[in-house]
Amino acid sequence: MQHDTPDTCADRPLDEGLSHDPATGHPRPPRREFKARGSFVERCPGCNLPQLNCLCPYAVTADSEARIWLLTHPMEHHKPTNTGRLIRDVLPDTEVFTWYRTTPDERLLALLEDERYAPFVIFPDDQPDYADRVVGIDAVAEAKAAGRVPALILLDGTWRQARRIFRKSPYLDRLPVLPLRTERQTRYRLRKPASAAHLCTAEVAAELLRQAGDADAAQVLDDYFDAFNDSYAASRRFEKLEAPTAAMRRLLARKG
Ligand SMILES: [Zn+2]
Repeated sequence: MQHDTPDTCADRPLDEGLSHDPATGHPRPPRREFKARGSFVERCPGCNLPQLNCLCPYAVTADSEARIWLLTHPMEHHKPTNTGRLIRDVLPDTEVFTWYRTTPDERLLALLEDERYAPFVIFPDDQPDYADRVVGIDAVAEAKAAGRVPALILLDGTWRQARRIFRKSPYLDRLPVLPLRTERQTRYRLRKPASAAHLCTAEVAAELLRQAGDADAAQVLDDYFDAFNDSYAASRRFEKLEAPTAAMRRLLARKG
């Protein structure tokens, strides 16, 4: 099965603070100032999760040959349910750029010109007009063999936002497009996915790293993502987790 999107899960994230027009029942656009549901909850300044089940004890780092560069939609930065930030916690070399349609990030532009890196834009290959740019995961190994560091560019936003970033960023137009092919179904529980095949950003990164030969980093990221998911979901139910989950125990063991 071809994976549908590098998206971050859902077109209608549960946390987006949408209200409904009482007359029509149609969702209203989010208010200008983003207010997450549950924003009254006391949050840990370290991990930004509700204090009840703080994620900080499980933060561990890993090494990877491939780098992850996140091109994040501005709306996504403010959401505590964003999973892109988990990637940087685990892989400190991760680059995070905010996407603005009219003002590309200068540092990203410079990195795209840097010969040390082999950038790939992660996106589905479901449209014919860029079929000539589509490559397989083997291209990542080839880049490594050529002495270059693969840089996997993830478009971090909802499905619609990701498509907009892909279409409205001329500096991405010359890059190879690497679709994620996986049977994996999402384990993300904090937003309602449009489909179980829609993986969130951290899951996409973990799966790509695994396929690209960074199995250890992939495992740590997967465990950290599961810890995030379970911690956050429990806090939403106002439940304190009684004991660390299996993923949490593996993370604690790495800390030695
Ligand atoms: Zn914390």
